[in-house]
Amino acid sequence: MAKVKYYYDSDTLSYRKIEVRKRDAFKKWSLFTLATALLALFFVFVSYQLFESPKEKAQKRELENLDLHYNLLNKKMEQVEKVLEGIQYRDNEIYRLYFEANPIPIEQRKAGFGGVNRYKSLEGFDNSEMIIDATKNMDILSKQLYIQSKSLDEIVNLAKDKESLLAAIPAIQPVRNQDLTRVASGYGWRSDPFTKARKRHKGMDFTAPTGTPIYATGNGKAVRVDSKASGFGNHIEIEHGYGYKTIYAHLSKYNIRAGKIVKRGDLIGFVGNTGRSVGPHLHYEVHKNGKAINPIDFYYGSLTPEEFEKILKTASQEGQSFD
Ligand SMILES: [Zn+2]
Repeated sequence: MAKVKYYYDSDTLSYRKIEVRKRDAFKKWSLFTLATALLALFFVFVSYQLFESPKEKAQKRELENLDLHYNLLNKKMEQVEKVLEGIQYRDNEIYRLYFEANPIPIEQRKAGFGGVNRYKSLEGFDNSEMIIDATKNMDILSKQLYIQSKSLDEIVNLAKDKESLLAAIPAIQPVRNQDLTRVASGYGWRSDPFTKARKRHKGMDFTAPTGTPIYATGNGKAVRVDSKASGFGNHIEIEHGYGYKTIYAHLSKYNIRAGKIVKRGDLIGFVGNTGRSVGPHLHYEVHKNGKAINPIDFYYGSLTPEEFEKILKTASQEGQSFD
């Protein structure tokens, strides 16, 4: 039963009943309902803030797990980077140095990628910064590994080359020490045995009996085995590659034909007295990039220090060459 309300009318000096209009009642009721609904909403909202749903709890645990493992992975990435740094250091300071290759600067190895923003698709999320950082680090790491791998490929090739370069250099004496009578004449200014004029002797003369074996002094290919060069008589010319060439002159007999691939120490011919020669001897020349150089600098492969000292002394004596 609804309460009846009155008011005091001062004009009539009596109490009069307050008529509640239906429209006003509805308005009131609506307001009340709205307020209740708002209050309810407010409580739901607050309780969501204060208490987590089971789904939220699960998601939170997932996130914490992700975070933990993300940090662990980051630490591992740092360790990998340290190991790689060590390898890069050795690569620059030992391997590349040894094989006479220029070091690759660290800045160049670690350079990021310029130009377009490669990480645009990762932007716009709460964790964007974290993901972009990790992706960037991984990209730089991959690039460094690629450069390192290329550098090692290069070194493998240089090592192979170095081996064949070392094998090609004319590094031994063409006549065995025990077969030598003596080194008659070295490289440099000597009197010509025929004209007695001072002349530059472009090689080294080894006097030995006719028929003494002559050996190739480095790996290479015999490009000439003939007597058509003036003065040299029967002679052999070996191309070693890397700018090296050797000449063996005044031979009595050949042991190879032109075109033959020879190894250091192969028997190629025999000492003789053919061509412009005053006695059985081997005239031996070493050329580097088209210029005759002193063969004495190349015998480290076959002589003891005492032998080298002796040969150096005799060869540097000024006298007459055998040509
Ligand atoms: Zn000579």
